[in-house]
Amino acid sequence: MESLVFQENVTACDECDLVHHIPPLKRGERFVCDRCGHVLLNFREHVEKLILGTGFSSLLMFLFALAFPFLGFSNNGAERSVTLYNIVSILIIQDYLILSILVSLALFVFPIAYLITVLLLVWSLQNRFISLTTKRNLTRWVVVIQPWLLVDVFLVGILVALVKMNSMADIELGLSFWAFCAHALLLLKTVTLLDRRWLWNNVAGQAPEHVIMKQPTQAKKQGLICCHFCGATHSDLVCHCSRCGHSIHSRHPKSLMTTMAFLMAAVIMFIPANIFPIMHTTFLGVNEPSSIMEGVLLLWSLGSYPVALVIFFASVVIPLAKVLSLGWLCWQCYFPTERETLQKMKLYRITELVGRWSMIDIFVVAVLTGLVQMGNLIAISPGPAVLFFAAVVVLTMLAAASFDPRLLWDNEERVETTSLLEEKEQ
Ligand SMILES: [Zn+2]
Ligand SMILES: [Zn+2]
Repeated sequence: MESLVFQENVTACDECDLVHHIPPLKRGERFVCDRCGHVLLNFREHVEKLILGTGFSSLLMFLFALAFPFLGFSNNGAERSVTLYNIVSILIIQDYLILSILVSLALFVFPIAYLITVLLLVWSLQNRFISLTTKRNLTRWVVVIQPWLLVDVFLVGILVALVKMNSMADIELGLSFWAFCAHALLLLKTVTLLDRRWLWNNVAGQAPEHVIMKQPTQAKKQGLICCHFCGATHSDLVCHCSRCGHSIHSRHPKSLMTTMAFLMAAVIMFIPANIFPIMHTTFLGVNEPSSIMEGVLLLWSLGSYPVALVIFFASVVIPLAKVLSLGWLCWQCYFPTERETLQKMKLYRITELVGRWSMIDIFVVAVLTGLVQMGNLIAISPGPAVLFFAAVVVLTMLAAASFDPRLLWDNEERVETTSLLEEKEQ
């Protein structure tokens, strides 16, 4: 019989390192960190069935999306229709290998690998046909690729590409387009349904039990380390997590140095990304290169204000804001100001959440290249800035992932202790 109560012992918050003893949860209940508000465990009703349902439907919709025409394009009597697969194959034929790899990873490899792995894992919870080692490896893979699922960004990229093309040709949405929309939405639903601690608990059993302080305290101060892969807590004398097998650290090793190195590399890449053309449009034999800002200004002059703003925010504002805010957070770890740590934490969360949306322009160029190929009449091809810009997005995403937010809370405790000491001295 299905158990109604879920037990996950001692764990520390992934974002502020505060140790919690999670009480037994009933289905439909969740446990939130009292200090930073991060959801530590969400025990949903009928979660296995829901994941199997949405995951399988998403996979099925993806297969449909491959089978039929994706988009149709007609200009002055010339017609063209492409499948989802054509978008990548044209990039390969035209020798844009790195861009084609990026698009294939975002469009095919990561989403499909994620869905198949999640379905296998959730299905195997009931039927023990996969060994524990394989299940652990599969779960680790799920945790690693989840931040790199960009189908929703790709979908918005397609919409922007359609608006861009609307002025130069008639567009027809194929059956595959709608199947792809359904696939993207169902995939997002599967991601939100899957709780990391719930999955690890079911795959590899409960986390070890510990005696913890009554007063809420950071794991580091209690001689404990929380595994950032599965959420199990261990004594700080061990190097590997007994539940997931991953190496454990109280704080990411060299977190600030790594983040700053990625940020600096992103700033360097941002310069050529804005100087060189991101797209070449050949119209009646005349080649017109355009950089990111030229594209934004063109859309603005054509009256497509919302799309011009989307591209401007995604390609210029977000990468710059991300570099500045992560840089400021690193600075705060070295020289903390009195600003509330929760505010800094919120800034980090927003930075992590919006960063992936910068990828829109890359997908717009990829979709336009795949679709608009009519020889000398009209053709679109990617410019050198695409790769530099893709590097900016990936580097800022890596910078956000390597930043350890628990360092911000370490500082808060340090500030508190210093002010307490000062009061005592007075
Ligand atoms: Zn917390
Ligand atoms: Zn672990």
